[in-house]
Amino acid sequence: MPKLEISKVHDAYAKGGECPLCTLVDAAERWYLESCLGGRAMASETRVLTNEKGFCPEHTQRLYRGHNPLGLAVMTHTHLQHQAPALRKALAGARNPGRRKAGLTALADRIRMLRDRCQVCDMLAADLERWTFTIVYLWKHDPEFPPRLGASRGFCLDHLRAVTLAAGNMLGSADLERFLADVIPLAEKSLERLEAEVLDFTQLFQHTEPGQGTEEQRTALSRALQVLAGRLMRKE
Ligand SMILES: [Zn+2]
Ligand SMILES: [Zn+2]
Repeated sequence: MPKLEISKVHDAYAKGGECPLCTLVDAAERWYLESCLGGRAMASETRVLTNEKGFCPEHTQRLYRGHNPLGLAVMTHTHLQHQAPALRKALAGARNPGRRKAGLTALADRIRMLRDRCQVCDMLAADLERWTFTIVYLWKHDPEFPPRLGASRGFCLDHLRAVTLAAGNMLGSADLERFLADVIPLAEKSLERLEAEVLDFTQLFQHTEPGQGTEEQRTALSRALQVLAGRLMRKE
């Protein structure tokens, strides 16, 4: 187990909040987006990935809001160049009367693939797999980790899915049962707590100026949405 991954996981637990995996993914995502627009925009291995995969709508939007229109334009130009032949073929195929149904399906598939494939999402998915593995590994091998997990708020729903699937693959049935006994009650507690906190949040608007209340009260909505959506909520 690489030390770097372990220390990143410990740092995310030290930060607290609803889900350490959301904290890790958020930091990695911002790093990837920044580096796509920075030095990596022109690096040849990044260009190859961008040509092949491009970016999903969410990451396209975030790159567009970034600070490097020239870098993004260069990447977009080569991406269009790279994708054009297959796209032209699919467009022409859709007009072939002999194979209309197959042609339309192939065009729809090609367009969907072009829209949804994303080098940032792929890198984050690989990271998430490593971090969920690390969490289950630490739970099994580091006696200091289970208390740390037990003192946390558990995971957002999507990362609960990821971490329980990883545990299902990695642990024998006795260990898995103990792991689930540690993790599932945290999710049950979080759901109950967040339901009450979001109700309190709505009361803030009825009795005082919006923005008043404690930090915990003011962040209740964003934390509840994080647990439902599987990502830290940001205004920008
Ligand atoms: Zn999460
Ligand atoms: Zn993406």
